Amino acid sequence: MSNGTFTGGIHPPDYKEATSQLAIEDIALPDEIFIPLSQHIGAPCTACVEVGADVSKGQKIGDSESFVSAPVCSSVTGRVTAIEKRKHFTGQEVLGVAIKVGSQEDQAKTNYLKAIPAWEEADLDELRKLVREAGIVGLGGAAFPTSVKLSPPADAPIDTVIINGCECEPFLTCDHRLLLEKTEDVIVGSLIMKRVVGASRVIIGIEDNKPDAIAHMTKATASYPDVTVTALHTKYPQGAEKQLIKATIDREVPMRGLPMKVGALVHNVGTALALSEAVRLGKPLIERVITVSGPGVKRPCNLRVPLGTPLNHLIAHAGGLNAAAARIVLGGPMTGWAQADLSASVVKGTSGLLALDKALAATRDEYHDCVRCQRCVRACPMYLYPNFLATAAEHKQWSAADKDGALDCVECGACAFDCPANRPMVRFIRDAKAAVMARQRA
Ligand code: SF4
Ligand code: SF4
Repeated sequence: MSNGTFTGGIHPPDYKEATSQLAIEDIALPDEIFIPLSQHIGAPCTACVEVGADVSKGQKIGDSESFVSAPVCSSVTGRVTAIEKRKHFTGQEVLGVAIKVGSQEDQAKTNYLKAIPAWEEADLDELRKLVREAGIVGLGGAAFPTSVKLSPPADAPIDTVIINGCECEPFLTCDHRLLLEKTEDVIVGSLIMKRVVGASRVIIGIEDNKPDAIAHMTKATASYPDVTVTALHTKYPQGAEKQLIKATIDREVPMRGLPMKVGALVHNVGTALALSEAVRLGKPLIERVITVSGPGVKRPCNLRVPLGTPLNHLIAHAGGLNAAAARIVLGGPMTGWAQADLSASVVKGTSGLLALDKALAATRDEYHDCVRCQRCVRACPMYLYPNFLATAAEHKQWSAADKDGALDCVECGACAFDCPANRPMVRFIRDAKAAVMARQRA
């Protein structure tokens, strides 16, 4: 069988061997956690606890009345010590809730939601409400509220739920481990999604650099006639929503259109797990699995981490940094965020923490004029001309950048990956996107 794929893309080394065979470990609780009140696309939350309040693990501590939003819940039992602005992984200051973590015995005290174990017969709106109250968002990085994605309009029927098991960013292996270790939850979570949106099938797409996960999931889903596993060509960005839809069901999502336009709903494996735990156990989204890796980390690992844990606590668990560490990146190396220090905390969308060495951390501070080699054009999965787009953006020609499709760019970085002129394409394009959107709002 030839494996599915899409047009464009690149083949960076995947560097996954350091952690792909390492089971998920639990991490000791830190002394304090800090939970930002905005961890999703949409309206930020307002704190619904006060300084000095005792909170239990799973208790809601922030919410918003906006439809496109998701509550935040405490990942520990402890006491609120501050509601203040602190540094976020983006480098900005964000409002959040600091909680002093209680004793190990205190952690047995939880405040979970009412589970719906009989989800196969449950009212669909009840299921959506539970998903919202659990604060579930897309865990593949976009952090879009899941309850909103599970509420498509009547004129956009969905026939296929696609579970994204590609994990195409180098180094990251947390989704790979979830496929192997939380198999039943991933399957049940995907079936709950299928039922809520009225789809007829589930397809789990996995890149062919994870043959053990493909074999394991194929065997595990054999008794589910509506669930199939599809092996996909290993290529970056295979896990991007539109590229995954093209590779699995051969449908093209129109430019600036949503997957529902072609009857598809895409969710990450971590989101499927979170959904299963919320529905079957009443457990809100209070923890996630993160890969800590890179040549600058002493003991690479896959960790189950309470949300709000400071990044330095993860590095300490991984044995600390070694002399090779030159740059810390939150997320994958293609789309992640460089960290000036380790004071930010883990949020819902955090998939990895990497310590890159000098070679991998090479910056694009020094670059040259475009030599018109067209490599970026061949790499772009969105059929853009990144060379023209980035040049327009570099010269602040926002109208030209808009016409060249700045808003269609998914910031995957494939264009910059092997640009011989080392041009910082994504930086240029991000500036153009911000300028074009600001003009549209004006
Ligand atoms: S890869 Fe770089 S040098 Fe080549 S066309 Fe694109 S921007 Fe120009
Ligand atoms: S232009 Fe945007 S979508 Fe195309 S390769 Fe570059 S970063 Fe990716």
